[in-house]
Amino acid sequence: MPTALRPGRKSRGSSAWDDWRWQFRNRLRSIEDLLRAFPELPAADEVRQAADRFPLAITPYYASLIRELSPQDPVFRMAIPSVDELYNPPFLREDPLEEDHDMPVPGLVHRYGDRALLLVTMACAMYCRHCTRKRVAGGRETTISDRSLTRAVAYLREHPEIHDVIISGGDPFTMTTKSLERVIAAVRSVPSVDIIRIGTRTPVTMPMRITPELTEMLRRYHPVWVNTHFNHPNELTPAAVRACAMLADAGIPLGNQSVLLRGVNDDPTIIERLCRGLVRSRVRPYYLFQCDLVRGVEHLRTPLSCGIEIMEYLRGRLSGLAIPTYVVDAPGGGGKIPVLPNYVVSTSPTHTVLRNFEGMLVSYPEPEGYAPQRSRGTKGESGATVWDLAAGKQGRIVPQAMPRHERRDRREDIPFTGLD
Ligand code: SF4
Repeated sequence: MPTALRPGRKSRGSSAWDDWRWQFRNRLRSIEDLLRAFPELPAADEVRQAADRFPLAITPYYASLIRELSPQDPVFRMAIPSVDELYNPPFLREDPLEEDHDMPVPGLVHRYGDRALLLVTMACAMYCRHCTRKRVAGGRETTISDRSLTRAVAYLREHPEIHDVIISGGDPFTMTTKSLERVIAAVRSVPSVDIIRIGTRTPVTMPMRITPELTEMLRRYHPVWVNTHFNHPNELTPAAVRACAMLADAGIPLGNQSVLLRGVNDDPTIIERLCRGLVRSRVRPYYLFQCDLVRGVEHLRTPLSCGIEIMEYLRGRLSGLAIPTYVVDAPGGGGKIPVLPNYVVSTSPTHTVLRNFEGMLVSYPEPEGYAPQRSRGTKGESGATVWDLAAGKQGRIVPQAMPRHERRDRREDIPFTGLD
């Protein structure tokens, strides 16, 4: 580990290293900090240009995981700004998921009927170069005000259909335990909220944040779930595994949301090692996200075929428990779309032809005289969905505002009776 990353004498020596407040206060926040820690840092001027555009912060702990001072190193690539972040093709957006459009009150995103996302801080232990919320994370390290929290909770009370609240940011575990408890207690006071989920990358970037004080507080508000964000097996250090164990021992189910990143984990064997390491650490691989179309991350994006290939590789090699769902978060606020290899080869009313991971083809006989229970299911608040088509409840779903439809609306209502 570079000497400059270690706590100085004034900081109570090695115990400071294990103190999350010391780690947070001593994040590398500028090119000068980086050069002090890594005097051999390559392309420092280019790093400076990127850091001027998008925030930079790395805990000394996470910086110590860099094994090679090069973008070939996965931790370096996720943490150190790259001039490639300035590449700006027209299809990238600041907010490709259009979260800001689905915010009925500041900080609360309500997209899916039964869930809401509450953004409670704009600070993170580290600013990941691939962050979807690059537009806000780290710009100003603010936390939710009392006024905004009150408005968000009032909205949750007015919408009892919301049963699941995801507390995210930024990273909620960068808040003090007391401030975070204020938020969790307010959400838990809403009777219709069943589960609280917290999204955090601190077990990866600042694992000393998981303290007995924090887990004691969280367990008072069960059911609480935590989703963390490991992307590479090099992040599964003994300290990170210990942090996950402390959360799991507090009765908190743990899931992991990875992002598929070029040059980091775009290799089936890396994802396999990651998933095996996660389940060993009592963390369920939950999602493998296709990298979003966010400004500043184009150099980290992979083609969709890469993710499908990885899923093809995992099935049959790993237990289903260790296989995440590969999803594309649809640009334009369409939500998560699962993508997987095609296992249905053909269908007829009597048989479905399936293939397994080895390429074996099997004919699956359908049951005779099966009458589907069409009464099940109701239309969601989004109106008719593909499920309604499949169930025969709806004849078609027509996209809105198509030029073809506009032409139809303009057309004169004269019946066609043949050519003159
Ligand atoms: S911890 Fe999460 S919110 Fe923060 S920079 Fe990383 S990906 Fe973005």
